[in-house]
Amino acid sequence: MIKENLEKIRATLPETVTLVAVSKTKPVSDLQEAYDASQRVFGENHALEMRDKHEVLPADIQWHFIGHLQTNKIKYITPFVTLIHSIDSANLLEAVNKEAAKHHRVVDCLLQFHIAQEETKFGLDMDEARQLLDSEAFKAMQNVCICGVMGMATFTDDEAEVRKEFKHLKEIFETLKKEYFADQPQFKEISMGMSEDYPIAIEEGATLVRVGSKIFGARNYNV
Ligand SMILES: *Cc1c(COP(=O)(O)O)cnc(C)c1O
Repeated sequence: MIKENLEKIRATLPETVTLVAVSKTKPVSDLQEAYDASQRVFGENHALEMRDKHEVLPADIQWHFIGHLQTNKIKYITPFVTLIHSIDSANLLEAVNKEAAKHHRVVDCLLQFHIAQEETKFGLDMDEARQLLDSEAFKAMQNVCICGVMGMATFTDDEAEVRKEFKHLKEIFETLKKEYFADQPQFKEISMGMSEDYPIAIEEGATLVRVGSKIFGARNYNV
């Protein structure tokens, strides 16, 4: 089933888009099944869960952290994480930089923006992002690399609203690119789109889509 789901989704993705298989709450056997169907990029939103899965699964998996990250949990993922999608404060970025330095790594990160109508979703606004990127503290960071932006649309059936929010994130990306990263080719990622809205996200310029339930089935949060 997982293999068939992956194949169906891959058939719809342009070559420029990377599929992040969101495997949070799913057992290692499900991830292995996806791996055997040649999936290499996985997304998790709990640091310890990601660390535990990383320890038992093949070493060539690229681990993307996609959830709210508490500073005291950074240490569990810094040795191996490929991309942190969810930088939502200057403090968090600074803490990642500090941990990454201990491991002599440069950790790739995305700035998460609040683009949805819901109050509950984490993320920066443009003023906060500018403040972060203008700060001396940021300019001194040697062990993080900002590679783009991430956002989550409102959970709604209103396709026009979702599309508007994705367009907004794309505009944020273009503005930051022009103002701060014009000569930096590594600033190229737009992480947007989940199971229900990734086709719209791709039309609006996503380079990374984060798809969970369409691959692994519905999650059971009671376990
Ligand atoms: C869980 C999650 C996803 C995947 O959600 P699905 O609807 O199952 O595809 C994507 N992004 C983030 C940040 C998530 O927490």
